[in-house]
Amino acid sequence: MLGACSIARYFQHSLVNLWVSYHRIGDKIKIVEEEAKWVRQIFEWYNKRVSLKEIRRRLIQAGAPQKGSSRPRKIEWAISSIQGILKSAYNYAYGVKTYTRAGETFEIQIEPIITMETYNRFVEVRESNRSYPSRNVKRDYLIGGLMYCQCPRKWSARGSSYRKGAKRRPQPTGVYYCGQRHKEVRHPDCPKTIGSKKADDYVWSKVAEVLDQPDVLISQARKHVQEWQTRFEMSLDQRDKLQNELDQLLVERQWIITQARKGKITEEDMDYQIGTISMQEQYLKQELAGVQVLDALPDINNWEELALEHLMNLQTGLDSSSHDAISEEDKKSNFS
Ligand SMILES: [Zn+2]
Repeated sequence: MLGACSIARYFQHSLVNLWVSYHRIGDKIKIVEEEAKWVRQIFEWYNKRVSLKEIRRRLIQAGAPQKGSSRPRKIEWAISSIQGILKSAYNYAYGVKTYTRAGETFEIQIEPIITMETYNRFVEVRESNRSYPSRNVKRDYLIGGLMYCQCPRKWSARGSSYRKGAKRRPQPTGVYYCGQRHKEVRHPDCPKTIGSKKADDYVWSKVAEVLDQPDVLISQARKHVQEWQTRFEMSLDQRDKLQNELDQLLVERQWIITQARKGKITEEDMDYQIGTISMQEQYLKQELAGVQVLDALPDINNWEELALEHLMNLQTGLDSSSHDAISEEDKKSNFS
């Protein structure tokens, strides 16, 4: 059984998801009108097909208050906040908010903020805005998830719809885009989006360029192999040096013990000297444990030849795939 206190807490907690503040006055839950006004405004704009970006601009320009938050906002009226408001359309229209906690579902009555008319219109607009871009068109994104900008953000790829404004595109296209949606925190040099064809063509041209000059690649690889070899040998040297020192200490320890047995040094002297040696040993052992001996490179003498052969194969593959692309184009133009 839940006490009144915990119900009140759930209540507050559950309304965190609604982007308008509610005040509890006795049994009544009242909305904060100054915030509700803007929620209505957002739905009105959306229903008139104003873009989220433009809605955001207008909200900021009008100085619309955002629901209080304990943390200072980095981004004023983030697009995700606006989306959050739109997602709660049902709650705002029906004046109800359900909330599940520990297996129990609570229904909290709130004051509706938008009219049913607004809600119905919203559902229509949302449905028509849904684009089904390239669901049945397979598109490969060559460098999706591999590109970064100065923001710095990892870039993703998405299919864009067939439409461009009122015009229908002949073919679906894709774009790569920066993950940063807010321009005030975007790096000035970030291009925001790049057509996927343009970007892929550029990357392919670079790949082709490299394959055209395999010697550049091979000489870089040769440098890499040499560096690796040097580092490998250095780590081996270091390991051997430490091991030698440890061996030396062992001999010394034996010598001291012998001297003590022969009565040439006192027992106290021996203890003292052995103590010093033990400390040195301890130190060297630690050093030795810290030496990372790199894996030796596989012993392939003709790696350059093998690499060249592989590059040649790639180039042949690239040539034939661009031939394929051309014949595809030919086929298409025959049909049109
Ligand atoms: Zn960026």
